[in-house]
Amino acid sequence: MSLVILVADGARPDALGGAIDDGLLPACARLRAEGALHTVTSVFPSVTGPAYTPFLLGLFPGTAGLPGIRWWDRSRGVAGWPDFARSYVGIEARHADADLTPRVSTLFEHAPDAIGSLTPLGRGLHPSRRMGFDWRFGLRAAWTHFRGDVRGWLVIDRATGGAMAARIRRDRPSVAFCVHPGIDKTSHAVGHTHDSVRDAMRIVDDTAAEIRADAERDGRWADMHLWLVSDHGHSPVSRHEDLARLLQQWGLGVTAHPWTFLGGHDAAVMVSGNAMSHLYLELRRRARPFWPDLRARWEPIAQRLLARDSVDLLALPHASDAVEVRARDGRGAAMVRRSGERFVYEPIDGGDPLGLGGSVSAATADAAHEACRGSDYPDALVQLLQLAASPRSGEMLLSATRGWDFRARYEPIPHVSSHGALHREHMEVPLLLNRPPLRTPRRTTDVLPSALTALGLPVPAGLDGASFL
Ligand SMILES: [Zn+2]
Repeated sequence: MSLVILVADGARPDALGGAIDDGLLPACARLRAEGALHTVTSVFPSVTGPAYTPFLLGLFPGTAGLPGIRWWDRSRGVAGWPDFARSYVGIEARHADADLTPRVSTLFEHAPDAIGSLTPLGRGLHPSRRMGFDWRFGLRAAWTHFRGDVRGWLVIDRATGGAMAARIRRDRPSVAFCVHPGIDKTSHAVGHTHDSVRDAMRIVDDTAAEIRADAERDGRWADMHLWLVSDHGHSPVSRHEDLARLLQQWGLGVTAHPWTFLGGHDAAVMVSGNAMSHLYLELRRRARPFWPDLRARWEPIAQRLLARDSVDLLALPHASDAVEVRARDGRGAAMVRRSGERFVYEPIDGGDPLGLGGSVSAATADAAHEACRGSDYPDALVQLLQLAASPRSGEMLLSATRGWDFRARYEPIPHVSSHGALHREHMEVPLLLNRPPLRTPRRTTDVLPSALTALGLPVPAGLDGASFL
């Protein structure tokens, strides 16, 4: 068997389904008719890079060691002097593979003949089989990115999609992992409902069509799995809270990109997506402090943050298995705890910040997923805990209100749309399969174990997902 995974980065389930319904994506329409189109949940933060750990390791970002597209290294053992800050936006993207946990193998390590294109994570992918990662391509992509050339990304998508199809035709690898960034780039610039986004989806559809036609002609289609999935959604943003500047105005010494080396030892602001942010507090402390230890000094800041229109949810880790979550608009607070396999949601003083309708005690992660199904925060219990548990996470985790994000400066593309947050528009993604699954897919973390099953490989223990095959 062989497997092709097409990542339509940033595609929303409704946008993809709508384009199929409107007849714009004939190859996807055939896949849906013969197989299945599901809506599954991504991860928090819902941002490219961290949200690829489910596809490639079967792990949540917190478990995988990639808690954000930017994070601050309190341990000082991973990111370097002088700022100990990590950003996978730009040159430090090359560190992402080494930052991943060595505990589990990547899809590329499971399938050494795999090829990949434009993937932000490529551990185990041989350089000669990793397309879009040489210096010449890197310069072109950087040029396209930093001058905000949205059409340029569609040219890149078309070129790499075609090149991947040709490579699959020629080399017949067991795994091909092919990323199309164009939907995300165009969505940021013009919004997810714009015709340019549909142009970007058509390019993904053309890639799928070409791979399928080749496989049918060569007699490989009967043994091929072809999946299309996204890593996060998108929603319109019209207001930008400059979180770093805000904290500076409140008199705090702040470390934030791009001027991380200028110092500031009270707080580090590490934004992802841009609708999510880690806040790291008291940067001179070398051991991670938890909220009970910080409350005396930081409670006024927590309250001032929640009073901002931009902040929808504020999560405060109390321990690696307990996180307090507070919501704006008088929705109150609750504790989210994990003990063994059980996930518990305990309202504080009648609060219901996640809108679950009261306390929840779920015997498994899947039961916790079900408990959040009807809410505005899909899989919130599991997602808050996986992130709070990461020793690389901040002491405050912020999820933005719809219409808002947390960076006002230094963005090459004008952001009229964002992602990263814990709410539905960012957390739900499509999963299109060329044959019906054995059970209903639930999360993007199901992709890796299902991929191993499809390839006839054993699924190791300790993953955050389960096979749908
Ligand atoms: Zn994006």
